[in-house]
Amino acid sequence: MAGRKRVIDANRAALEDAAQRVVNREVNDIGNAARRYLREAARSGDRPQHDRGVERRSVGEFTSWLDEFLVGHREFIRERMWASVWTFAQLVSDAAMAEAEAAGFEPADVSQNVEAFTRAMLAGRAAAWTAILQTRLEDRMQAAAEAGEDPLVVVEETLAERRDGYAEDWSRDTGTAIGNAVAVTVFTVVGVLSLRWLAFGENCPYCSSMNGRTVGVQEWFVLAGNDVAPEGLPAMRPGSNVRHPPLHQGCDCMVTVG
Ligand SMILES: [Zn+2]
Repeated sequence: MAGRKRVIDANRAALEDAAQRVVNREVNDIGNAARRYLREAARSGDRPQHDRGVERRSVGEFTSWLDEFLVGHREFIRERMWASVWTFAQLVSDAAMAEAEAAGFEPADVSQNVEAFTRAMLAGRAAAWTAILQTRLEDRMQAAAEAGEDPLVVVEETLAERRDGYAEDWSRDTGTAIGNAVAVTVFTVVGVLSLRWLAFGENCPYCSSMNGRTVGVQEWFVLAGNDVAPEGLPAMRPGSNVRHPPLHQGCDCMVTVG
């Protein structure tokens, strides 16, 4: 488990570099399109009220462009992230196999399971990446329209925030997720029956309350809609079933053989 934690920590920078290049491309392309479609909207702010139809049409055209762009961008994320994600997943797989062997399980060839699982996981995370971006841009343009503000300004603000933080956040949580989910795949193939949750060092009380919990390998640590509620604190309610960390953004817990 210590070996796998080192693999996760050591690969975070490579994941982040690859993710940052993808983010730079998206910020560039979306920024150019926004200026193309929304420049008209910015000018129409000076026009009389009856002429604001131009503004609505430009936002609509930009939203349609964005819709189409993000379909292709999801594929682009999968292609561009695959090399670093797959290198990382193989190292995680080897480290997890060593953990299982140390716990007395016979090693097995897991490469096909791990590759199929990693591809599916990256596809899911690429879909979440574009969905979050689309929702954020559309929500903020909507809010700008309601407040009578320039949609181009909020798009550019959103992209600037994205460029300065998203790759780091994405790679940290993706590293934790793959570093644990791939291990669970390996443990399942070699016949491990139960999983144990481990929290490290200075933790939030939610993660500390999970520390040492064990569940069957086919079960969940927390079911969607159920609470993680350490005594005296507001409940945290995960949006989906939790079989492995991260429990929340920035969580660096791990699961190991139970
Ligand atoms: Zn945690």
